[in-house]
Amino acid sequence: MFSDGLKKLINDNLLRVICDRESGSTASRIIIDGEEYINFSSNDYLGLANHPLIIEAAKKAMDRYGFGAGASRLLSGGTELHGKLEKMIAEFKGTDSALIFNSGYAANISAIPAIAGEGDIIFSDELNHASIVDGCRLSKAKKVIYSHGDISHLSELIKKENGNRKIIITDTIFSMDGDIAPLSDIYNLCANLNSELRTPNSMLFYIDDAHGTGVLGEGKGALAHFKIKPDPFIIQMGTFSKALGSYGAFIAAQKDVIDWLINKARGFIYSTALPACVIAASIEALKILEREPALTEKLRQNRERLLKGIRDLGFDTLNSETPIIPIIPPYPPLAKGGRGGLSDVETTIKFSEHLMKNHIYAPAIRPPTVKLPRIRLAVTAAHTEEDIDKLLKVLRQAIGNRR
Ligand SMILES: *Cc1c(COP(=O)(O)O)cnc(C)c1O
Repeated sequence: MFSDGLKKLINDNLLRVICDRESGSTASRIIIDGEEYINFSSNDYLGLANHPLIIEAAKKAMDRYGFGAGASRLLSGGTELHGKLEKMIAEFKGTDSALIFNSGYAANISAIPAIAGEGDIIFSDELNHASIVDGCRLSKAKKVIYSHGDISHLSELIKKENGNRKIIITDTIFSMDGDIAPLSDIYNLCANLNSELRTPNSMLFYIDDAHGTGVLGEGKGALAHFKIKPDPFIIQMGTFSKALGSYGAFIAAQKDVIDWLINKARGFIYSTALPACVIAASIEALKILEREPALTEKLRQNRERLLKGIRDLGFDTLNSETPIIPIIPPYPPLAKGGRGGLSDVETTIKFSEHLMKNHIYAPAIRPPTVKLPRIRLAVTAAHTEEDIDKLLKVLRQAIGNRR
């Protein structure tokens, strides 16, 4: 039925295939088809997914509350742990209130249409995550896309538009480029417009801190990184599935925003609640994050070591400022001598295969996920200096082989 479409994907080197692992661990080491790799593709930035205390907390909750939640949160799916985690998140993010969603994807596709409706205008960064794009598509608001991280383009567009409510939406850390949005500039823009307009909070600022939570601002996230206070016009979305090593997501905001979402966010209302054991794992992960600043410090050191090594080798890493480090073709020394007839997609796939042969796992990321194909490296606190040096050695060989 879909064989023509699939054939085209194969021809264009764009067919996606699933590559499941046999090993338990996610950060640092994985086993696929009996082969062990150093893993540079996991978002388990602090290596918490395998933390014994988190596993124990999940097991205890399973013994007490069973496994499946059985119903939506508004029926009988929630447990006292759900409410406890929401209190912890609100405190952690400095807001009145918080609400748990089943995943980051579910949070964005349900909260955005609930917050932005007919007569409203959404301003969205052109590189925002697919879940934001889909949330915008589901919203009845008008959508305006601004150039990536471009504050003057954004303010120009805002001036042109008239609507009830205006909402700026951005990733904090962009998941494929590893750069950070200009949050202070956007915050100031919103704060100034809100005071000029004299209608309180008609400019809203929605941030997706999926990659910032546990990574930026000593783990507290992007607002803490920029020392921005969580004003009522800010809505913070984040996930438990990346640096916190668990699963699920949250929105932290003023109480009336959260009460509105409980009533209007369809992915919250019409979906079974997360199992209590998953919530227990997230609670434990938050406790560990707050108790062990050494984890985020180790992540920062590993990132610096890797980034420096990669830039010394002459790779283009775009504007990466975080543990997400893209490496973009043409790869040096090809950068000087052209790319020998291979498309960037093919070059990237060959490059990834070379890494695999040398037991480094870092798959090629291709269109339509990104415009420019790339190897996306994600370094974690669980990597050792030897792991990073091994990757650098293999990268050096890879570009040496092409001379
Ligand atoms: C991963 C990610 C999501 C989706 O979160 P899940 O919990 O994996 O569904 C949303 N936004 C961004 C920016 C992400 O990177």
